[in-house]
Amino acid sequence: MAEKHLNFIGGEWVEPATGEYFENRNPADQTDLIGLWPRSGKEDVERAVQSAKRGFEEWRRRPAPERGEIMRRVGDLMTARKDELSRVMTREMGKVLKETGGDVQEGIDTAYFAATEGRRLYGKTVPSELRDKWAMTYRRPIGVCGLITPFNFPLAIPTWKGFPALLSGNSIILKPAEDTPHTATLLVEILLEAGIPAEVVQLVHGLGAEVGSAIVEHPDVPVISFTGSTATGSIIGETCGRMHKRLSLEMGGKNAQIVMADADMDLAIDGVLWGAFGTTGQRCTATSRLLLQDEIHDEFLEKLVERARALRLGNGLEDGVDVGPLIHQRALDKNTAYVEIAKQEGARVLTGGKRATGGKLDNGYFFEPTILADVKPGSRLALEEVFGPVLSVIRFKDLDEAFRINNEVQYGLSSSLYTRDTRNAFRAMTELDTGITYINAPTIGAEAHLPFGGVKMTGNGHREGGWEVYEFYTETKVVYVDYSGRLQRAQIDNYDASPY
Ligand code: NAD
Repeated sequence: MAEKHLNFIGGEWVEPATGEYFENRNPADQTDLIGLWPRSGKEDVERAVQSAKRGFEEWRRRPAPERGEIMRRVGDLMTARKDELSRVMTREMGKVLKETGGDVQEGIDTAYFAATEGRRLYGKTVPSELRDKWAMTYRRPIGVCGLITPFNFPLAIPTWKGFPALLSGNSIILKPAEDTPHTATLLVEILLEAGIPAEVVQLVHGLGAEVGSAIVEHPDVPVISFTGSTATGSIIGETCGRMHKRLSLEMGGKNAQIVMADADMDLAIDGVLWGAFGTTGQRCTATSRLLLQDEIHDEFLEKLVERARALRLGNGLEDGVDVGPLIHQRALDKNTAYVEIAKQEGARVLTGGKRATGGKLDNGYFFEPTILADVKPGSRLALEEVFGPVLSVIRFKDLDEAFRINNEVQYGLSSSLYTRDTRNAFRAMTELDTGITYINAPTIGAEAHLPFGGVKMTGNGHREGGWEVYEFYTETKVVYVDYSGRLQRAQIDNYDASPY
């Protein structure tokens, strides 16, 4: 019998009020049942919110440097358990161990960045326009934050949201993706062991439409941070707009790597292999379009196809595996359907294009790394997010055309240009309409101390990471202190007294 795992609500590990559980299976091997996790409901969310409100009242009064010290311990504990966390993550979502190790490291970096932010959280002191008066700002926490996260970065994304929220003095309710509940469970264990007070953190497992929406709709959760698909983000956005909630959305992408004829070809090939097929293409920043300049188009593709065919698919826990499985059957169906659409749109399948089978692969959701040539700008493959190892190749004549193609999609997360010409590089930095641009590097990879996020339909103007995320989890309060001992009227007394 598979082990039953619990929610963390009200300061203790508890069964869901519904009494129901869902299965978590290894996507590389469906016979591997990892465990059962609570399929929670509204009642569980209600208890979590009431508890998080109590937690907030205590936590917000703790000095921020003290909160920072706890975050430092969180980083230390994650470092000590890095190997275990990586293995748990690979088993439940499939990406190879090297990549889940990177996911954990991102969380560790985020913890240490939060630790130091505990001694900053700067406000401003500015001169007042009146005599004997001080004017300043400081950052205060907001309240209970609902965090809803996807499966593809099961540790990094909850830490991007949770750590700045906690450091700023908020309490959190985490609703992890139903495909990756185990990693989230370990993260909450670590937070508690590091010294986060019990009611400051709540973990409610379950389905998006049941638990996620109950958190979003709860009137006592004033902050929602969501990462996931644009379709889900739109539903959440409507509710938050109606309820006047603070909302951060990080959603889909259709990212392009542009390669100029003057680029280092081998470097660009290494980049696109990593960008398109790393994490089995299931990254918001995955390279899903490759834009090749006419002169190098055929030679580049010949070399790339050979390299893509050599990638080894398999269980990410095994040595020598390059590409893991997709997350579930729906993802497999979606990737298969997009290859059919590509063919109808006149694209050529150069390699891959179907489910990978044979031996142990039969037990998992494996899809062959796929390269589609002759994809036309404006076609569905050129515009829509596939979220899998499917690369659409588009040719272009000059840089202006490449910019146009890059910018015609509704998304705007990341972009990349390979060139040896500095003028091209600087033009790309200003002309590519995305939140992140990489020069001579693939479309993926973020550093914890820099802001992360996209423009257009990828986001709603907020950023994760860096210092910018602290803006999201705090309110700026202004304080005026008048020690003149008399009534001073701003914009009236000072100007009345002016000789001009
Ligand atoms: P998803 O939208 O299906 O699910 C994300 C989370 O939302 C899950 O926890 C899910 O349970 C929950 N959810 C689903 N319906 C909900 C509802 N009605 N109300 C509240 N919560 C609900 O996304 P996914 O398949 O897990 O992740 C893939 C998507 O995430 C891709 O589109 C990818 O580009 C995007 N993503 C974006 C970023 C970024 O930073 N921009 C990062 C990673 C992933």
